[in-house]
Amino acid sequence: MKDSPLRVGVLAVQGDFEAHRRMLASLGAEAPEVRTPEQLDGLNGLVIPGGESTTISKGMARDGLDDAIAALHGAGRPIFGSCAGMIVSDRKHLGLGDYLCRRNAFGRQLASFEQDLRIKGLGDEPLRAVFIRAPWVETHSAAVDVLAEVDGHPVAVRQGGLLAVAFHSELTDDSRLHAYFMAMCSTSARTSSASRAGVRGRGAGGLATSGGSE
Ligand code: GLN
Repeated sequence: MKDSPLRVGVLAVQGDFEAHRRMLASLGAEAPEVRTPEQLDGLNGLVIPGGESTTISKGMARDGLDDAIAALHGAGRPIFGSCAGMIVSDRKHLGLGDYLCRRNAFGRQLASFEQDLRIKGLGDEPLRAVFIRAPWVETHSAAVDVLAEVDGHPVAVRQGGLLAVAFHSELTDDSRLHAYFMAMCSTSARTSSASRAGVRGRGAGGLATSGGSE
């Protein structure tokens, strides 16, 4: 039986949401724009793109998306925050991850740069990471798994269903990080349909959770 495509929404309040939509679509996902809480219904996951974190934060609050996104995350749907998306997912904003960001952390001179990064879970081949006025993670709790660092500062983290990176992986043609996120989404989709099947009395036997990064 062929699975229906994953539906991974992309928050379209502000920022570079189109590039994320293209990359997700190239991997076979449906990638609708999300501008209202209703548009979160039925999603298997959500990307919060880069842009301007203050603008995105205000836009989310204005449209009631902040509570709705927190509820989506609470219901087990994975969230992928990139750059400004990493900032607005932190403890001071949506509180999806137990970490705090420093904005524009690399300073003026290094406002934008590219670097090959080894990322835990993506294998040995480094990913070309594009940093644009990027944050880094300043502090985090032990619940946060650091996937990559630059100069000792975490720039890619995971905490359960939250993946957050300081750079733009949607601006290269290397789609491994989006594929990693989609694997998180499909694991959560399988788990939730298994629990629905369980409610209908068919049981959830045989559905191993791989939790992997295929
Ligand atoms: N510097 C931006 C901010 O603080 C983030 C930049 C980005 O998303 N590329 O909101």
